[in-house]
This record gives sequence, C-alpha cells and structure tokens, in this order.
Amino acid sequence: MKSFLSAGALAAVLLGLTGCYTNPETGRQSVILISPAQESEMGAAAFAELRTKEKVSHDPEANARVQRVGARIAEAVGDQLPSAKWEFVVFDAPKTINAFALPGGKVGVYTGLLNLAKSDDELAIVMGHEIGHVTARHGAERMTEAMGIGLGAFVVDLATQNKTNNTRNAWLVGYGVLGLGGALKFSREHESEADHIGIRYAAKAGYNPMAAITFWQKMDKESKGGKLPEFLSTHPANDTRIEQLRAWMPEVLLLYEAAKRRDR
Ligand SMILES: [Zn+2]
Repeated sequence: MKSFLSAGALAAVLLGLTGCYTNPETGRQSVILISPAQESEMGAAAFAELRTKEKVSHDPEANARVQRVGARIAEAVGDQLPSAKWEFVVFDAPKTINAFALPGGKVGVYTGLLNLAKSDDELAIVMGHEIGHVTARHGAERMTEAMGIGLGAFVVDLATQNKTNNTRNAWLVGYGVLGLGGALKFSREHESEADHIGIRYAAKAGYNPMAAITFWQKMDKESKGGKLPEFLSTHPANDTRIEQLRAWMPEVLLLYEAAKRRDR
C-alpha cells in the first residue's frame, strides 16, 4: 500500500531525519538523511538476497584468509561506525575479479579477486577500500543525494518505515551501492576518499600500504589483457588513482610503522 504524506508532513519528516555526518577518518562533513540503523537494515536485506543468488565458497583457506584480514581491518576501524555489523563472505567465482561491501558492514569477496591479490597486504588494500565506503557512509550519502533530485516516494517509504523491502533492495542494489556488475559508479570523490581511508585502515591493521601500488598496477595490467575485471568497471585503475596513492604513502607509512612497533 502506498503511503501518502502531505508536503508539510514530508518536510517535517525530512527535518527530523536531517543529519550531518563527519567522516571519522578524513573529517569530511556530509548531509545524510538516512540513519545508520536504517542503512544497516537495507544492507543486510540486500546481502541476504545476494547470498541466495551467488555461490558461497566453503574453501577453508580462502575463508580463513578473508576472515583474518577482515577481522584485523575491523579492529583498525574500532568504533567509528558503532552500528556496523561486519560479516565477511567468500563467493566462489574464480573468473570474477570483484569485491563489494554493503551499507552496515556486509562484505563479499570473490575467489577471482583472491587469486589476483596474492598477498594479505594486497587483499587488505581491497577490503580496506570497501570498508572505507561503509564507514564513510557513501551509500547513504548517495541515497540522500538521490532524494534531493526527486525520489520523494522513496523518502516517504523510509520515513514511514514502510516494509517494502523488495522495493528498497532493488533500489539499493540498482543504485549500485557497490561494485556489483553493471552498477553505477561511485563518484570520483567517493572513490578517492575510500582509497585514502582504505590504505589508512590497512596500515593501522599492520598491512603494508605499498601493496596498494602493486595491486592497482596489477589491475591495470589485467585490463590491458583484454578482459575487464568487474571491479575495474566501477574502480578504474588509472594513473591518477596510483599517483594519489603514492602521494599518501608518507602519511600512511608512518601508521604502518607504528602498527608494526605495536605488534612486535
Ligand atoms: Zn570503491
């Protein structure tokens, strides 16, 4: 059943939902009209649906690797996003070079990406990047922007807590919250921010952030080999990206050195 709210009521709802979010890692401020709890609920529902469509891997080694790296990055994140419920799942698709994270902390890594990211350091770069999108709440920020450009019905649904989960999920996945095939790209700003946050998390977790350079060079090579990895369709491995990562190295190498001293 469609809910109906008058313009006045909608404005009141919007005002009630309005929030300014300060990114815990970069300090950037953004307006986000969706609460962390709502965002987690949407992410979890979309993830449950996705799990029924993809083949979950039970390979002990692949799973141990993803759990190990995921747990260390989650520890580096700490309580930056208290609503996050981290869950790391491996999908069995050796030809799929992809990884994604949904709002609220559900992270999926495909075996194709695991084969390419040979070291835990490289895997930490990818997982750190995806987790960076989550803690920066990029999905919710994009949904907020979409509301601003006229998706009023969606706002009404959310505001009234209308349990039209299918619509919400379709919208969420359709809007390309992450690197799912064919999804819309994050903006350059979000990509760059997730790169920055991701290498900081990886370094704080004790992984060598220099792996970001080798990983993206490898991805670049893959793309020139004729087949475009899915991850690359949403995450171009261009020179700008690699240059920017290099520019952040002095800062993140300090975090890495500190982590190594701590873990010694
Ligand atoms: Zn990204």
